Amino acid sequence: MKAFTFVTLLFFSFVTVAEIAKQQQFDRLIEEISSGERYFFKPEDFRQTLAELENALPQNDAERANILDRQRCLLAYFDNPAAGIAFSKTKLNQAQSANDFPAQYDYHTCRYYLYNMLGENELALKSANLAHSAAEYSEDPLSIALSETELGNISSYQGNYADALNHYLSAYPRLQQLGYKPYISDLVLSIASAYRRMGLYDKAITYIDEAEKEFNAPEERFRLAMIMHEKAFSYAERGEPEQALALFNQSIDVYNELAVPEWIAYTNVNLVWIYNLLGQFDNALAVAAEAESVLNHGNPSNMANLQTYQALLALYKGEALLADKQVNAALESLALADKLLSEQAVPRYMLQLHLHYADALAQAGQYSLAYTKLGQYVELNNRQQANAREQQANLLRLQFDFTRQQEKNDQLAAEKLAAEQYISTLQLAQRWQYVAIIAIVLMLFILVSFAVSLKKRNRKLHRLAMTDELTGIANRRRIMMLAEQERVKATETSSPICLLIIDLDHFKKINDNHGHDAGDIVLQQVCLTISSVLRQQDHFGRTGGEEFLIILPNTDINQAQPIAERVRRSVAAINLSLIQLNLQVSCSIGLTQAKPKELLNASISRADKALYQAKANGRNQVVEG
Ligand code: GH3
Ligand code: MG
Ligand code: MG
Repeated sequence: MKAFTFVTLLFFSFVTVAEIAKQQQFDRLIEEISSGERYFFKPEDFRQTLAELENALPQNDAERANILDRQRCLLAYFDNPAAGIAFSKTKLNQAQSANDFPAQYDYHTCRYYLYNMLGENELALKSANLAHSAAEYSEDPLSIALSETELGNISSYQGNYADALNHYLSAYPRLQQLGYKPYISDLVLSIASAYRRMGLYDKAITYIDEAEKEFNAPEERFRLAMIMHEKAFSYAERGEPEQALALFNQSIDVYNELAVPEWIAYTNVNLVWIYNLLGQFDNALAVAAEAESVLNHGNPSNMANLQTYQALLALYKGEALLADKQVNAALESLALADKLLSEQAVPRYMLQLHLHYADALAQAGQYSLAYTKLGQYVELNNRQQANAREQQANLLRLQFDFTRQQEKNDQLAAEKLAAEQYISTLQLAQRWQYVAIIAIVLMLFILVSFAVSLKKRNRKLHRLAMTDELTGIANRRRIMMLAEQERVKATETSSPICLLIIDLDHFKKINDNHGHDAGDIVLQQVCLTISSVLRQQDHFGRTGGEEFLIILPNTDINQAQPIAERVRRSVAAINLSLIQLNLQVSCSIGLTQAKPKELLNASISRADKALYQAKANGRNQVVEG
């Protein structure tokens, strides 16, 4: 049982791997076909591709079967267009009811080719237009570009070259953007041929030269041959048949190598025309015979092209026979050309036909018929020239529109760029604004902190400048300033004010006996002590070494006396046993009340005198002055 399961599993995994390989092979083939990389120039190519696709189709894969059917439409029915039309009708109905636009595009395109083969030009045109709108609904850029190209081909075939160029030039940038080389080369050839048919040979050759540069790989020989083919037409029509001859011969070499007899035959038909232009009528007739055997007995795939080439061959051969004086044979050939061409009605060829036909009829002595043909020639020629003028005018209009559109696009692009630049400038400016704001805030912060610290420093400096370093009380400058302020205030308010001058007694001795540092400590102690016995409103400052000044605002001499006495006593009571046991300090005080409107110096000097008196009286006492 286990073994059975294993074998089954193994079997199914093999099947799966094989199926995946098939899917990949199938998808690769489809990609090759839709990218235009696969060439279809021989009936076998159609058959072989179909066989490869059928072989790669995985089993029970409805989606891929559907895709295969879309390809089958052309691959299976290229040699039986009527059957293909019938096949595609059913499929198209299904695609329409499923709203499957890509499938609709494929079937309409296929029907366009099939109708073309049947020579049903109007139905072909209808299919091409339907394919174009299906492409637009599908929003697939490649389908849009290709259907636009086909519409261009139809316009070109009808002789509406300006319209054709309009279609081509709208498809061209799309294809360039997509980068599908084979389609681009086909399109460049179509553009060149449209310009050539308008008589704008230089423009045609410019486009061809551009295409020629791109196709030099060995596997691209067929495309290069077709490019040379188109270039040969331009040279021939520009009046340079020698160049055309060389180019056609080069193309023939490639077609020989690739074994494509139809293309050799088509080129031979063109060679008949070139030999006629060169006046080499023997060569023309020899090549005509070669082409005839292929065109009449071969099995070419494209019947619309076949009939055109048969007609052209009859036309050019008729011209050569006429030049060779084989008037009857020429008439016969031209009659055949007339029959084949009138169905196709390509005016360029009709014009040549009427002219040669008239000539041949005249040479045969059928002057009346010749005259009629000549009349037809003149009439058609006039029409053609009017048409050519119209085409050129149309082209000018289209080119003008194209240029204007391009200018508008350029302008829009420039405006968009400018707007983007403006926005990015704004963003940059905004960013800089933020940076500037941050910088300003930072600078303000730094400035404020600097100002604050400066103010603190100033205050400290101010304090230092106004304070005595050793004792921390007001220094001389400050106490003198305060004294002056209080004097002014007292004068203004007519209030009393007293001054005390204090000098420590025998301070020199303390310094001498205990050292300068001890003296400093004594000074500090004295200041602390005096500060502690003064009132809030009193001012106390050091005016010299061991001399002090006290201002007692709003105080008369009677109120000042006990304060002075308190000061003297507190100093005398300072305990200096830390320095030396029994060390004593005392002070003498000169006290005075300032007289009204008296200057400060006068009061001080009176106090000084009182101090001197206190010293003289034996120190450690208060003397009033
Ligand atoms: P008296 O005033 O009682 O007549 O005697 P005195 O010894 O105090 O005399 P005088 O006023 O002439 O001397 C003052 C001394 O004070 C002189 C100086 O050495 C001392 N002195 C002044 N300033 C300072 C100071 O800042 N520190 C110390 N340690 N001593 C100072
Ligand atoms: Mg002194
Ligand atoms: Mg002293």
